[in-house]
Amino acid sequence: MSGRIEWPEGRDFAFTVFDDTDEATLENVVPVYDLLRDLGLRTTKSVWAIKGAGTPRIGGLTCEDPDYLAWTLDLQASGFEIGSHGATNVTSSRDEVARSLERFRELYGHYPGAYANHSGCEESIYWGPDRVTGVHRLIYNAMTRFSRQDTFRGHRMGDPLFWGDLCRAKIRYVRNFTYRDIDTLAACPKMPYHDPERPFVNRWFASSEGADVAAFNACLAEENQDRLEAGGGACIMYTHFASGFVRDGVLDPRFRQLMERLATKNGWFVPVSTLLDFLSERAGDPMLTASERRALERRWLLSKARVGYS
Ligand SMILES: [Zn+2]
Repeated sequence: MSGRIEWPEGRDFAFTVFDDTDEATLENVVPVYDLLRDLGLRTTKSVWAIKGAGTPRIGGLTCEDPDYLAWTLDLQASGFEIGSHGATNVTSSRDEVARSLERFRELYGHYPGAYANHSGCEESIYWGPDRVTGVHRLIYNAMTRFSRQDTFRGHRMGDPLFWGDLCRAKIRYVRNFTYRDIDTLAACPKMPYHDPERPFVNRWFASSEGADVAAFNACLAEENQDRLEAGGGACIMYTHFASGFVRDGVLDPRFRQLMERLATKNGWFVPVSTLLDFLSERAGDPMLTASERRALERRWLLSKARVGYS
């Protein structure tokens, strides 16, 4: 796999977004999607298919809210992807995870293509220290003062929170590392890859860091857009569209300006799973080698240590 990618439809580069649904309401995200829709950009919005028991540390609407559900169905009908941010916004048992996956399929007609763990949900899969391997796990544990060692257990067979088999059977893509550069594919050229040390995930993808409106706008600054275009790369932004993109009903003007500029370029603006399906088909062996794993993990830990990236 080398050289410049020939993007579909004669496009010059690819751009998409995985929107983590934390704190999302109709008030704080609908204007974002109205803009993306008008500009012809199609991205991925994650949801929680069911409402869990208990109070979430970080909440937001679930598909049990009828108006919100109707809006997400409308988004899907207009070409956006609905992805999964887990069963719901609180820790869920295996039975709840299974129920949520089936509910997702009833609502949207298919199982989730793309999934990302929700911070704080203990059924998260290969999360916390288990995102990384060997000496990198030791470093991660030291950085987090050994506070997360046995927290996340979705991949541990025999644990009541285990759902790795369901993940492997039903979900194509799971997100792990996040990098600073706009060109996600340059940071993780093998994506979507399979990691033989993490067998319950079919394929992993990486993303570019844009957790809130300030970080997103910084990553999408004009010179970075131009560099992504010139390099023929691919960007998967990881963000929370509920984090400051809309204030008092008004869309952030800088965000609007940057998206309008990007949309004038000859980019392939498709949802995360569409982009990853294309990359899977063109790639060779998806198996991550030990040296590739070390490089991905090291670069991620360095950026995490410097700026606390997710
Ligand atoms: Zn989340």
